[in-house]
Amino acid sequence: MEWIPLVRPSYGATEEKELLNCFHQGRLEGDGPYTKKIHQFFQQTYQIEKALFTTSCTDALELAALLLDIKPGDEVIIPSYTFVSTAHAFALRGAKIVFIDSQPDHPNVSIEAIRKALTPRTRAVVPVHYAGFSCEMDQLMKLSAEKNFIVIADAAQAIESKYLGKPAIAWGHMSTLSFHQTKNISCGEGGMLIINDKKFAKRAEILREKGTNRSAFFRGEVDKYNCIDIGSSYLGSDLLASILWAQLERREELQLARHKIWKAYHEKLAPLANAGKIVLPKILPNTEHNAHCYYVICKDLEERTQLITFLKDRQIGAVFHYLSLHKSPYYLPLHDGRDLPMSDHYTDALLRLPLFPTMTEAELDHVIRSIHDFFRKL
Ligand SMILES: *Cc1c(COP(=O)(O)O)cnc(C)c1O
Repeated sequence: MEWIPLVRPSYGATEEKELLNCFHQGRLEGDGPYTKKIHQFFQQTYQIEKALFTTSCTDALELAALLLDIKPGDEVIIPSYTFVSTAHAFALRGAKIVFIDSQPDHPNVSIEAIRKALTPRTRAVVPVHYAGFSCEMDQLMKLSAEKNFIVIADAAQAIESKYLGKPAIAWGHMSTLSFHQTKNISCGEGGMLIINDKKFAKRAEILREKGTNRSAFFRGEVDKYNCIDIGSSYLGSDLLASILWAQLERREELQLARHKIWKAYHEKLAPLANAGKIVLPKILPNTEHNAHCYYVICKDLEERTQLITFLKDRQIGAVFHYLSLHKSPYYLPLHDGRDLPMSDHYTDALLRLPLFPTMTEAELDHVIRSIHDFFRKL
């Protein structure tokens, strides 16, 4: 058996065709024909107000932080169990990052944990839809209206996910997507800022274009473009947009393949969960996940380390995920000292298994069989 990586992106003839077409059109800069098609596609398909293609999800989060005029002393509530950019985007503007814990039965944060962390200085809450399972966005939006904070959902992993029947990315004042090579729909590097609250739409376009009204100029709304606000360059090249377009054309095929693998893991590992050896992903109520990632939760760090080694010997690239940010060298001195035990538990015990659309049945069987073999030996 050849090495089975955690993810192997599926780029083929469709991507090649669109990429070459973009190249021959000669419009490689940002906001070219492909980016426009992508914006339209998102706005029509996912019931959102405005989509803005960016160079990454990290950049989309930074753009959101700029839009909110986050200032030193503002507090932003973020799960500790997340990717570093979720926090950094706001820390860069001087925000105080308030880390909260994950749920005992899911890496997502709970509304209760958010409520407890609120203070009069809370400007924003950034929930993360872990593994494409949406947080409880209806309750969070209600709380935000009551307590007057902004919700920016880090939906990097949640394209095609739903909450209460509505696309996960359509929840929150804003949300952000990633098209990094490891995500369900990808173009190497890329992201998107999604604006669901109209009042941010106009300014978002300006900040993304270095603080100029260049976009309005190209639409013929003003006769010259000028510097009218703060901003930076967050536009992704149309070359990348062309690959993203190809992936969007293939999204049903890609999603179908992922769901098949996710379901197989869930069914065939169930006996181990029933025997109390591992914990499998909890299917959260009101959510439709997108088969972004399949993970198991081991007993502890030691057992997970043994399992990783065991699987590696069998050519399987299973890997752990985040390290609690509140204990990271950078954020530890800035954290207020509260214990976040569930974040630490997922840091130690959660293991992601290979999952990608081109995974063969033989590869999948090999991974499942190997996990059973490991626990039989214990
Ligand atoms: C992948 C990911 C990011 C970062 O995305 P980039 O496009 O690489 O910047 C941020 N947050 C979460 C939750 C992610 O999974």
